[in-house]
Amino acid sequence: MTPKVYVNGKLFDKPDAKISVYDHGLLYGDGVFEGIRIYEGRIFRLKEHVDRLFESARAIKLEIPLSHAQMMEAIQATVSANNKRNGYIRPIITRGAGYLGLDPRKTSDPQIIIIVDDISLYPPEFYENGLEIATVSTIRNHPAAVSPRIKSLNYLNNILAKIEGVISGCQESLMLNHLGEIAECSGDNIFLVRDGVLKTPPVEAGILEGITRGAVLELARAAKMSVQEMTLTRHDVYIADECFLTGTAAEIIPVVKCDARVIGTGKPGPITRQLREAFRQLTMAN
Ligand code: PMP
Repeated sequence: MTPKVYVNGKLFDKPDAKISVYDHGLLYGDGVFEGIRIYEGRIFRLKEHVDRLFESARAIKLEIPLSHAQMMEAIQATVSANNKRNGYIRPIITRGAGYLGLDPRKTSDPQIIIIVDDISLYPPEFYENGLEIATVSTIRNHPAAVSPRIKSLNYLNNILAKIEGVISGCQESLMLNHLGEIAECSGDNIFLVRDGVLKTPPVEAGILEGITRGAVLELARAAKMSVQEMTLTRHDVYIADECFLTGTAAEIIPVVKCDARVIGTGKPGPITRQLREAFRQLTMAN
């Protein structure tokens, strides 16, 4: 079935879903977006994603011409129109069409787009055997330049990191922050396990506050694991017993090598497996 795309309150077949080439979302990456999963007909953590969408918009002084409740409804209606039981939702808000020139006051209406499509996942063997990642030289955006907490349409920082990772033959790229601390990967948050303690960089490290990261922290605390949101360095990665990444698309994926060094036993570890199972159950119970 051709995907039906929501554009400003109407549904269009994918080839007919269009916006202006003068849109500042295209011209300058001026806009925000989300990535959300549908599991067996249930939208995972929709409220949290819409909260983050509105926070990202607020941070760039972009007023979304729908209320929070209307946005949730529009997303649900687009999922229903596409009859998707398992898939991916991509809401996008652009600054709107304007003149050439940066000034957002020169734009007209923000464009609201909701795409519902299939999800492209890592192949199953990466979940069984683990990923290899590499630290890249592109640092995460300095939080005082563009806050990594904003899920904006300008993803060049992450794309440059991704390119470096691809060149070095790795599935994900580990990004440091301006202080040389671990931040996150190009499209995923990172967790380590050391002596039974689950560790992940704090939001202040300059990261996107991942919804999956939040769910994993909740699951770990509910399972009475010891959890620390703390500054981490590459040293911590190299001496970790386990490492995994979290993200809407990746869910929880084990990492067994970083910078050509084997992490732990070189196989996905028991805490990673336990959290993966708990996360699977959560997506079904959502
Ligand atoms: N960090 C970055 C840079 C991301 O783009 C994403 C989302 N793809 C994540 C982390 C994970 O966030 P979430 O769990 O909300 O998908």
